[in-house]
Amino acid sequence: MTTNTTLLPALIATLQKTINDNVEEVTELDRAIGDGDHVVNLQRGLEALAKISDELAKLEWSPALMKIGMTLMSTMGGASGSLFGTLFVSMAKAAKSKDFDSSTFPDIFMAGVESVKQRGKADIGEKTMLDTLIPVANSLFADKANNVEINQQLDNVVAEAIKGMESTKDLIATKGRASFLGERSKGHIDAGARTSQLMICAIVDVLTQQ
Ligand code: ADP
Ligand code: MG
Repeated sequence: MTTNTTLLPALIATLQKTINDNVEEVTELDRAIGDGDHVVNLQRGLEALAKISDELAKLEWSPALMKIGMTLMSTMGGASGSLFGTLFVSMAKAAKSKDFDSSTFPDIFMAGVESVKQRGKADIGEKTMLDTLIPVANSLFADKANNVEINQQLDNVVAEAIKGMESTKDLIATKGRASFLGERSKGHIDAGARTSQLMICAIVDVLTQQ
């Protein structure tokens, strides 16, 4: 499967729609164990991306990913702004002078997720976006090594994203605002894990319709 940055305007519009369709739910999630602003932060970042999406579509993948990361960092705010920004900036660095396709993407995505881990000083099991991102990165990595067919890889990505997001419900938060609640953070899905899963599933939808 080959992708091109001309896909970005439609992809960004799809992400905006997905997040807008889930505003209330995500607001409730962040209100329960955070301060309720996660979805607004993300909407602000996606709106900024929509404004430059025609420009992004003219770039190669690495500079496009870099511009996405820098834009998210400078517009989103919140812990998630710097973390999602870091994800894309590091993917941009990993994508430099490489083809960008289904054979290189697992490494590129893994590099991005590793940077989020470092930036957030967090790992799997801490009730954050990483509980969605890490299983997805691992799944892509393993499937590539095992020569799993691309549509199966995408199905596995969706399954892992949902499973990872759901896993946050019973976890105790040890990072971010939710960690202030300790035991009381249990019983709620993490907002960043949910938005990460929603966006990953929306991207897979676009890719499988191609
Ligand atoms: P803030 O917490 O500053 O209000 P947001 O509400 O935009 O920022 O984002 C909160 C989300 O960020 C959480 O739901 C969680 O997924 C993620 N998050 C917070 N801290 C960390 C961290 N140290 N590592 C990874 N993800 C984190
Ligand atoms: Mg918040």
